[in-house]
Amino acid sequence: MTNEELWKAVLGEMEISLSRANFTTWFKGTTIISNANGAILVSVPNGFVKEWLENKFNKQIFTVIQNYFSEIREIKYIIGSARMGPPIPKRDFSQFIPEKISEEKQDADIDKATNLNRRYSFDSFVVGPNNELAHAASLAVARSLGKLYNPLFLYGGVGLGKTHLLQATGNVVAATATERKILYISSERLTSDIVESLKNKTIEEMKQKYARLDLLIVDDIQFIAGKERTQDIFFSTFNELYGKNKQIILSSDRPPSAIPALEARLRSRFEGGMIADIGIPDFETRLAILKIKSKDKNFEIDNDSLSYIASNIQKNIRELEGALNRIIAFSQIYNKTPDLKEVKKLLAAYLSTPYRKTTHQSILKSVADFYGVTLNDLTKRSRKKEVVRPRQIAMFLLREEVKLSFPEIGSKLGGRDHSTAIHAYEKIKNEEDSNETTKQELVLIKERIYQTFENS
Ligand code: ADP
Ligand code: MG
Repeated sequence: MTNEELWKAVLGEMEISLSRANFTTWFKGTTIISNANGAILVSVPNGFVKEWLENKFNKQIFTVIQNYFSEIREIKYIIGSARMGPPIPKRDFSQFIPEKISEEKQDADIDKATNLNRRYSFDSFVVGPNNELAHAASLAVARSLGKLYNPLFLYGGVGLGKTHLLQATGNVVAATATERKILYISSERLTSDIVESLKNKTIEEMKQKYARLDLLIVDDIQFIAGKERTQDIFFSTFNELYGKNKQIILSSDRPPSAIPALEARLRSRFEGGMIADIGIPDFETRLAILKIKSKDKNFEIDNDSLSYIASNIQKNIRELEGALNRIIAFSQIYNKTPDLKEVKKLLAAYLSTPYRKTTHQSILKSVADFYGVTLNDLTKRSRKKEVVRPRQIAMFLLREEVKLSFPEIGSKLGGRDHSTAIHAYEKIKNEEDSNETTKQELVLIKERIYQTFENS
């Protein structure tokens, strides 16, 4: 049996046990170089793959090889092929994690130039089996910008940590490579900027601005589906950056192959780098996340209560946090920390309606009531100062709770255009993460929204 045949057998075995994306990521560009003196030498394209093969897959590879050559005692992996970029020096991941990011002030968290939210860090990200690959890939890309996997494409369901990872990666780069130009943007904002630039005939300037970046992060790229002009311009920007070895990181709620109305040329670009998925966290990971979040918020709560929450909310970390926020809000309102019995009661309503339903009317009415403004002021083209914020909150909730499109939201609230709605959404979204008052207001308004609906 030749080395080539032996490695083919290994690859065949691995292919069966891994997803296609994973298999490609870890085994593309690997070969056996030699088989002598009880040791097999495997060449791998880079240090990142080397670490993973050594730590994750060695046992499995070893088993296959032993079937053919029982005298083999050892497999060594060496960085040899240049097919996937130059080798990177082996360094400790932890040294790339800036320690201070998560301790920075909570306000003014968004950097004007990069659009990154400093609140997100690797420190506050719990690594579990569900996100291990995405996490490692993000760190690896951050330390070897543009050279390792380009693009890095992260996908996973709503509320599972994609934005957190994207932002944390941008923050690491911002902190460790200060001269690098970075931009984080949602694909909806990107689309709206493109539309705006086309209208104002400033698209060339916009393209040039993007072409100067070292790292472009586009969140929720699935939203460019069906938007031909945006795809067109994004394609040329992508190529320009890619051609210069500038890093692109994308996230989506599904893999590139499952994004409908995505041009084939873009899909194949998206599939050309590394694809990593984020799955649903297991109980341990959920519990660890709850612990980190309550510590973050200086909230003391017993383990049983946290376990109870973690075992009852499984599919979405944002919901998990939402449940915790609800408990925190109530404990502040009633000035006491709830015990397990009370936690159960508090969550009962939340849990009994896992897919809570509401309508846009109910949202508008609840917001108006909560802030003591009239529905008319909220929805008409009123310029009264006191409705500005309620309107922003309403825009945010229409998006989060009933998933209206931004143009629809704009038109329901005084005939404003979609960029106003996007702006409002992003502003409140950020405040929801960083501002205690906003957080509590949202909890209380949602209480009303769902009560109103259930009673009607
Ligand atoms: P997505 O972008 O996938 O919808 P987000 O990144 O916005 O999800 O995550 C939702 C919330 O859950 C955020 O507050 C984020 O900080 C938190 N979160 C998600 N995954 C983790 C994790 N592994 N560790 C800590 N917090 C997490
Ligand atoms: Mg997100």
